Amino acid sequence: MKIFKIVKDSDKNLRKKCLEVSLPLDEETKNTLLEMIEYLKISQDEEKAKKYNLRSGVGLAAPQIGIQKRMLAIYVQLEDKVYEYALVNPKIISESFRMAYIESGEGCLSVDKDHKGYVYRHYKIKVNAFNALTNKEETIEFKGYLAIVAQHEIDHLDGILYYDRINKLNPFERRNSAISI
Ligand SMILES: [Zn+2]
Repeated sequence: MKIFKIVKDSDKNLRKKCLEVSLPLDEETKNTLLEMIEYLKISQDEEKAKKYNLRSGVGLAAPQIGIQKRMLAIYVQLEDKVYEYALVNPKIISESFRMAYIESGEGCLSVDKDHKGYVYRHYKIKVNAFNALTNKEETIEFKGYLAIVAQHEIDHLDGILYYDRINKLNPFERRNSAISI
């Protein structure tokens, strides 16, 4: 088990555009992705999180652990179902017109300060990526909460943080057709 040191938003490296990962995936990179999933899993286990002093997270992008590469991990438990992805070179190939946002706002393991406001994202997206968990190139459809998590993590690969997307003049701006999650 690896307890990563999380890069914080005061670090300029978090603002860089990450580089494509070369495929086929080497063992070291694959292991890193599996460790990233494991880290998220542990962070959501109350007892272990307390023991290792971890903040609970559902997604982790490589630049957050100091690797400037286009890869990310997602581990989400929703209604007794687990959704886990270890994605390499993810590309959004389609986006819904409909937008969504998390009513309570977003958070990020790299951001200690709470930035209040709505982060509007596409309600549904399709992503092309190499999935290290299945060892296949896949097209994955994300919807609702998962779509928000995926967009948050993909943003990290381009040096974008969630609060960049909050309307500075009107953080709780309402958009009529957007779905609250
Ligand atoms: Zn984040």
